[in-house]
Amino acid sequence: MASLDVEKIRKDFPILKTTMNGKPLVYLDSAATSQKPRQVINAVAKHYKKTNANIHRGIYKLAEDATEQYIKTKELTAKFIGAESYRSIVYLRSTTEAINAVARAWGDANVERGDHILITEMEHHSNIVPWQLLAKRRGATLDYVKLEGSKFIDMDDYRAKLQSRPKMVAFTHVSNVLGTINDVEEMTRMAHEVDSTVLVDAAQSVPHMPVNVKDMHAEFVAFSSHKMLGPSGVGVLYGREEVLEEMPPFHAGGDMIRSVDFQESTWNELPWKFEAGTQNIEGAIGFGAAIKYLKKLGMENVREHEKTLTKYALEKLAGSGVKAFGPGVEEIEKKAGVIAFSMPGAHAHDIAQVFDNEGIAVRSGHHCAMPLVTKVLMQPAVPRMSFYIYNNEEEVDKAVAAISKVREVLKIKN
Ligand code: PLP
Repeated sequence: MASLDVEKIRKDFPILKTTMNGKPLVYLDSAATSQKPRQVINAVAKHYKKTNANIHRGIYKLAEDATEQYIKTKELTAKFIGAESYRSIVYLRSTTEAINAVARAWGDANVERGDHILITEMEHHSNIVPWQLLAKRRGATLDYVKLEGSKFIDMDDYRAKLQSRPKMVAFTHVSNVLGTINDVEEMTRMAHEVDSTVLVDAAQSVPHMPVNVKDMHAEFVAFSSHKMLGPSGVGVLYGREEVLEEMPPFHAGGDMIRSVDFQESTWNELPWKFEAGTQNIEGAIGFGAAIKYLKKLGMENVREHEKTLTKYALEKLAGSGVKAFGPGVEEIEKKAGVIAFSMPGAHAHDIAQVFDNEGIAVRSGHHCAMPLVTKVLMQPAVPRMSFYIYNNEEEVDKAVAAISKVREVLKIKN
């Protein structure tokens, strides 16, 4: 039995009725950003029409309603990822801003000259560059865990690199290029054995599978609303309460304070201590609607659907002569709905161009993971298809047919 009623879901997404280059849109770039259902679009519009006011400020009814709605979205977010309370849920702009915030605020307070920071070779730039900057600021060393077979984290290398007792271990739950699903619980357990603090980049996991931060045990988890049906401009930094209590604020201004005097200030309680100035209120309300939508589908069903579709796509692609990167069909339990591939004789951008002419949106490039794409996969760029709840087998068939078209257009012999 199908885990999701995809045809019903598709009706909720107005953009899927549009065309691209005269062909019905086939959107295979949800790893970059997801499309939005009418429930999210309507929630944002309704807020503007009926409840728009700044939060935590006015004592009039409209402002109280807006504040209440905003807090409700935090409760929803906390529940969605198994966090104990919304005190652990800080809204920032994105996963990127969340990781930068930790590297700045936690990093500057805890990392000293000679310390190590450990990340992996499969990270997105947003989980590399903030640590490079922190290492430079503090005189620390940034180490990378190697990959095994260009697919998985090499756990022997991980164990060996943990011997330097890194202050911070930061890694992605799911690779946005390989689709590899890492064993977060085990990696966190090992890092805690040497007293490291752990940050998990969950930008590609929270939207696609059940995630429980209590089971993960990580101190920090970051993800973005726009990749999970919600608006752009809202990112979540989950932090264990006792860690957030200790961490100094990184943005300063209105609302994050308890009191301000001419020389000194004291901080508001969690999570407001980290939310300075007017927040993306409409974005948060849209995000709340997105979480409700996903909850109704059930995250197990979302994962099951994507697993089935990815397996189908990998099997079809195997017969089309392209090389798919990351875990294969036989390792499907460790593979999310992300397939980057290469085709001898064709540049990634040319492939994406031919797909575009066919109405199929795929991303091409280094996917903000240059060390992985250029040094590990040894590719200048790769095209990538990525799936979500609204994709179906018919769309995969169209993508596979487009590969034959690439051969035809570029005159590539088999
Ligand atoms: N981490 C991973 C694994 C990603 O795939 C992305 C975005 O593609 C990010 C971090 C950054 O997310 P954002 O652009 O929402 O900050």
